[in-house]
Amino acid sequence: MVVGDFATKRQLVIIGGGPGGYHAAIRAAQLGLEVTLIEKEKLGGVCLHKGCIPSKSLTQTAANFSGLSYYKQMGISVPEATFEYETFTNYYSSVVTGLQKGVEALIKANKIEHLTGTASFMSGERVGIDSGHHFEMYEFEHALIATGSSPLLPGGVKLSNRIMTPHTLWELNGLPESLVVYGEDYFALEAAMAYKQLGSEVTLITPGDGFGLDSGIEKELLRVLKKNKVKVFRKHQWESAEETADTVAVTLSKDAEEKVSIEASHVLYAAGYSPNVDGLGLEVINVERDENGFIVVNEHSQTSVSNIYAAGDCTIGMKLASKAIKQGKTAAEHMSGLSSAFNLSLVPYVVHTNPPIATVGLTEEQAKNEGYEVKTGQFSMSGNGFASILGQKEGLAKMIIDAKTDVILGIHMMGAGAVEMIQSGTYALEMVAREEDLAYPVYAHPALNEAWLEAVESVSGKAIHVPPARKKEKSTV
Ligand SMILES: Cc1cc2nc3c(=O)[nH]c(=O)nc-3n(C[C@H](O)[C@H](O)[C@H](O)COP(=O)(O)OP(=O)(O)OC[C@H]3O[C@@H](n4cnc5c(N)ncnc54)[C@H](O)[C@@H]3O)c2cc1C
Repeated sequence: MVVGDFATKRQLVIIGGGPGGYHAAIRAAQLGLEVTLIEKEKLGGVCLHKGCIPSKSLTQTAANFSGLSYYKQMGISVPEATFEYETFTNYYSSVVTGLQKGVEALIKANKIEHLTGTASFMSGERVGIDSGHHFEMYEFEHALIATGSSPLLPGGVKLSNRIMTPHTLWELNGLPESLVVYGEDYFALEAAMAYKQLGSEVTLITPGDGFGLDSGIEKELLRVLKKNKVKVFRKHQWESAEETADTVAVTLSKDAEEKVSIEASHVLYAAGYSPNVDGLGLEVINVERDENGFIVVNEHSQTSVSNIYAAGDCTIGMKLASKAIKQGKTAAEHMSGLSSAFNLSLVPYVVHTNPPIATVGLTEEQAKNEGYEVKTGQFSMSGNGFASILGQKEGLAKMIIDAKTDVILGIHMMGAGAVEMIQSGTYALEMVAREEDLAYPVYAHPALNEAWLEAVESVSGKAIHVPPARKKEKSTV
């Protein structure tokens, strides 16, 4: 390989073609910048190939499969349903391929130069791209690092076709007979419930007390997991895993003493991520990073080096495509001279369990810890007419309200429709809505969102579908 002095000049060089990188590339091109996007694998990144799209194909398939039995009561007869893993894999792969083609077409249509290769910083102005057979140099005015993150694996544990992470789970070629899921984030919950509903025996182990959700939602979630026969071990820490020909034995400890061993055909370790920064040459540009190596950015997605931006999973904070997209677009706009900034205090958090969970803003516990005097309203989905029609009566809606100002602080829901409905909650919180702003409008009927109206009304004992004795209990100050 020959490395010459010549460097192609670009206004913007982006490293990583996941959601953070490709959204930034398109937004920057819209604003008139000359952009080069470097991706070492496939455009779309983890989200498209190993994350959001495969995982939501899995959860939706499981929800459809488990919901079939209800159709009988509606007069629809479904001959004995079966689930074929290979067909499912082909299905989601075709969804991924279609979406990838769409991203490629958009990159081309926006006249973005797309290079396949591994990029690294050579200096504060130059990036080198190794594409295996040759090495190219680009000189940039601005650079964006959007290289993503990789799942952690405990020391001494080797990945295999039985011990998997959220990135390798998609290499499975059949339904696991039994699955241990270790983790506490949304994907640990999604995988546990989906595989259980598709037919695997599932044990969910979480190192902490719970899943970081509002206590009302968490209580309902644990009830639903129990009803689905997912075994849950809380406050159990991973110690080791031993693989034999056809099982894995996982040893856990509780309170650093009591040891528990659980055997399963497969294990999913879904507890934490580290940034993809090795070999990127960050030491050359000297950008600030936190103690775990994640790149520190400000509200404009700028690193400590002002012409170098970073977006998505390689930066501090939550690991979500929604955050990567916002940060990528903000970076493109800011470097183009716009005064764009992001605020991550109101990112909707969604869990595609069945029923799904969606929340935005503060939990009751967080609001109290922040010193708010809190009043709450809660409404069970079993009292909602449309939930009854759907046969999906599990879950609840809960409102967290500042008792002094009536401002809504948080909206939490477990139940059918939660994922799509939560965006209205985000608007409400963005607009600093008060209790009366949610209580006053006319709500469509019958509709799942009436659960929000009744949750708000229950704060002041006005909910119609709550028996009088419970109205008082549900409104706490
Ligand atoms: C199982 C699972 C389910 C998920 N579900 C959701 C969900 O429902 N909703 C949600 O919002 N998020 C979800 N996520 C998270 C989401 O996938 C990530 O937050 C998102 O992909 C981060 O985007 P990114 O652009 O920062 O990085 P990535 O998507 O990881 O993309 C980074 C890209 O950079 C490339 N790259 C790395 N280093 C270099 C280099 N040196 N040179 C060239 N290219 C390089 C990589 O090949 C990769 O394609 C899920 C994740 C997983 C694992």
